[in-house]
Amino acid sequence: MKPSPFNYLNVTTIENALDALSSNDNARLIAGGQSLVPMMNFRLAQPDLIIDISNINELKNVTEEKDYVEIGSLLTHTNAINSICLKKYFPVISNALKNVAHHTIRNQGTVGGSIANADPASEWPLLINLLDCSIKVKSKKNTREIPATKFFESHFVTNLKENEIIISIKIPKIQNLYGWSFHEESPREGDFAIVETGVIIEIENNNIIKNANIIIGGVDEKVIKLNNIENFIIGMNINEDLCKFDEKIVLTNIHPISDNHSSEEYKKHLSIVLLKKAINSAKKQILSKLND
Ligand SMILES: Cc1cc2nc3c(=O)[nH]c(=O)nc-3n(C[C@H](O)[C@H](O)[C@H](O)COP(=O)(O)OP(=O)(O)OC[C@H]3O[C@@H](n4cnc5c(N)ncnc54)[C@H](O)[C@@H]3O)c2cc1C
Repeated sequence: MKPSPFNYLNVTTIENALDALSSNDNARLIAGGQSLVPMMNFRLAQPDLIIDISNINELKNVTEEKDYVEIGSLLTHTNAINSICLKKYFPVISNALKNVAHHTIRNQGTVGGSIANADPASEWPLLINLLDCSIKVKSKKNTREIPATKFFESHFVTNLKENEIIISIKIPKIQNLYGWSFHEESPREGDFAIVETGVIIEIENNNIIKNANIIIGGVDEKVIKLNNIENFIIGMNINEDLCKFDEKIVLTNIHPISDNHSSEEYKKHLSIVLLKKAINSAKKQILSKLND
């Protein structure tokens, strides 16, 4: 398939991109093109104007501040995997992103494009929720920060307005001793996940769980934060069995549907299996840190 005819504009500043976006009714930004180009080829997207933002260098940085790390929206999956700063503070990012597609796609695809695309089986939307990030977006008249919990609305739908650009993502540093894990199951290496889970567990000095973030993707219209399971394990001692929760509480929070890859029943089964695996991996990591 070929895309419908379109005009192309290359910009090198945020201001020029915002000007072009606000003065054209049917314009689309293009970053890595790894989702937009296939959509255009299938004519699921038919923009009149493509605004190429991939040469705006100020959107490619990783900046460390005292309490958070800020990543530009044009950071590619590969550069995120290789970032020494991200590996130091958030090793779960490189661990999860290695599952995104293949080298060529990871070299082009960006964090901004991935979260704007909002596929509920993608790795970045899960990570953004798991790490309690906020998303900085800008229009010609306004700049705002959207918490991860409010950014994703449904399949391929976000809180982003048509005249806004994602500028950066702020990732708060985790202050307590913590364990993390990410697990996914996909039909073949590099395919989108059938189910993906991410867990972060933080403990206090007395080994009591102070905070937990438990996120699951691929089983609903957006990635889901499993508050019930988080509340179940908060306050427990890390040495206890953290997986003795009622599995029904997980199933009431997710709504998978059958597709070409697997049935609804299989996705539900996989959700429980991966969730327990992820919680136990995070716990094991904390226990090994405590024994160091
Ligand atoms: C074969 C294949 C397999 C894939 N497998 C996976 C996978 O396993 N996991 C996964 O997570 N992804 C996968 N992807 C998608 C890939 O990760 C894309 O990189 C990502 O979804 C989009 O990033 P992009 O930079 O290419 O965005 P683009 O395709 O350029 O843009 C996507 C959308 O985001 C908008 N956009 C882009 N940048 C911004 C911005 N800064 N502000 C506002 N809007 C913006 C665009 O207008 C467009 O609507 C796969 C893609 C392909 C082709």
